[in-house]
Amino acid sequence: MEHEIYKAVDQNPNMKNYDETVKNFSWDDIEKNFSWSETGKVNIAYEAIDRHVDEGYGDKVALHYRDDNGTRSFTFKEMKEFSNKAANVFKAHDIKKGDRVFIFMPRSPELYFALLGAVKIGAIVGPLFEAFMEKAVSDRLTDSEAQAVVTTTDLLPRIPVADIDTLEHVFVVGDHEEGDKIVDFTQEIEKATDELEIEWVDREDGLILHYTSGSTGAPKGVLHVHNVMVQQFISAKYVLDMKEDDVYWCTADPGWVTGTAYGIFGPWLNRVTNVVVGGRFSPDAWYGALQDLKVTIWYSAPTAFRMLMGAGDEEVKKYDLSNLRHMLSVGEPLNPEVIKWADKVFNLRIHDTWWMTETGAHMIVNFPSMDIKAGAMGKPLPGIEASIIDDNGNELPPMRMGNLAMKAPWPAMMRQIWGNREKYESYFIGDWYVSGDSAYVDDDGYFFFQGRVDDVIMTAGERVGPFEIESKLIEHEAVQEAGVIGKPDPIRGEIVKAFIALREGYEPTDELKEEIRNFVKLGLAAHAAPREIEFKDKLPKTRSGKIMRRVLKAWELNLDAGDLSSMDND
Ligand code: ATP
Ligand code: MG
Repeated sequence: MEHEIYKAVDQNPNMKNYDETVKNFSWDDIEKNFSWSETGKVNIAYEAIDRHVDEGYGDKVALHYRDDNGTRSFTFKEMKEFSNKAANVFKAHDIKKGDRVFIFMPRSPELYFALLGAVKIGAIVGPLFEAFMEKAVSDRLTDSEAQAVVTTTDLLPRIPVADIDTLEHVFVVGDHEEGDKIVDFTQEIEKATDELEIEWVDREDGLILHYTSGSTGAPKGVLHVHNVMVQQFISAKYVLDMKEDDVYWCTADPGWVTGTAYGIFGPWLNRVTNVVVGGRFSPDAWYGALQDLKVTIWYSAPTAFRMLMGAGDEEVKKYDLSNLRHMLSVGEPLNPEVIKWADKVFNLRIHDTWWMTETGAHMIVNFPSMDIKAGAMGKPLPGIEASIIDDNGNELPPMRMGNLAMKAPWPAMMRQIWGNREKYESYFIGDWYVSGDSAYVDDDGYFFFQGRVDDVIMTAGERVGPFEIESKLIEHEAVQEAGVIGKPDPIRGEIVKAFIALREGYEPTDELKEEIRNFVKLGLAAHAAPREIEFKDKLPKTRSGKIMRRVLKAWELNLDAGDLSSMDND
């Protein structure tokens, strides 16, 4: 198979090349970068914030928070003080090590103070995306037996305070009515001292509970421990290519694992200036942030890139983005068309990274010094052994589609699915962790994503991954987004059916369907061309921006779509 290869430029003169790094790599060496390797006292919040103050970098900007009201900046020293205050408020209300403290807030500096403060007292934090409605909030608080929630005036009504037995306190930022269990977080922070005796924990103690996106079924509560820092630190350094003077922006919300692993811990463990942009997505707000804050490293997702692409190239030209030197993507397959677009308008290759909530950190990546093959997710992070296996755990040769799997354990691996041992164990075949994604490896060792295992289509004896078809579809000028499923068919087993959202200005006609079908037939393969096409105003997506193929399938088959708590209904 021929793939277009983009020659990479190694931005970091200190960075070894991929093969050499893999050869010389050891997790033990990485651990020596942390103060706890000598003291035995661990707390990721100390490593991410306080340590830099102790080492003389207190005045460096840790956070630029930007929204419609402008930019507020905080140094590492200020981050330390505010998170200490938050920690003291939690302590005063008897929140203890191991308690589950949920953070249910829109992005704001206070969110970061609260999250770090809770970590500093040894609590397990549970970030919740602000758009969750009452049912989604209630499910997660109940499942995790939460003790506390930090929230805002606007979101407070979505917390069923009386219905969650374990819930002791709801800390509210902003005005609110008096009520049982309600604490005024803003007032208490003002009164709290910024002196704190941090809670030193074991590296295997609970840190964060992230619920998965809910693309394939009910969200799972994935528990990570403080040890996650080893891999988050090194992947942020090696893959995101962080260096002292970088200004880094990860667009993911902390409600999703990317927004904490690489929106909080990765950058701050590397002492890098971190950008957070609040408010809603708009091309102007985003390009404006890149320009005004002089962002150098930008980590986002295919869905966002596709929206920017849809807004047109003229839009980009209005901004000076000359500081930008490294672009990365995660969360969904990165379509070659999107890579081409970025190459044209930013003069940069988007580096894809593959990982999942359960893996806790990057697993398959495009290392800066690696040549990029469009359509490939890259190669295993140094220190990670990845392979393609069949359903019995046997490794498959190159070019064979199968289960994407990794040898367990690795430093950032999940330690539990909350309260569900059986579910946790279901991920493993022997010592292989099985991702649920289907992929193949080419002869050069690059991994190619094909789809979720459940989404792979069997049509007339051929196994077809939906991703390749979707990528071809969005190359067509009329197509903004596409979701492809297998629809049961008495003769072919399944047929390929595509749901398509059109770009502005295109009419959903039968002629257009025929044109799009031919476009795939000629550009990819006859058997991959969708026999059925249905136009939709928009595709069903999770709140983290992933196309929910299970919902498309349920619509098609008139079935119950299952847990929709994480679906974006806006
Ligand atoms: P759920 O597990 O609840 O169904 P989810 O799998 O979407 O939801 P996440 O952990 O947020 O929840 O997402 C991980 C998944 O995202 C991966 O299993 C993979 O399918 C997809 N993904 C992440 N990065 C990439 C990538 N670079 N290329 C292709 N797919 C990716
Ligand atoms: Mg998943």
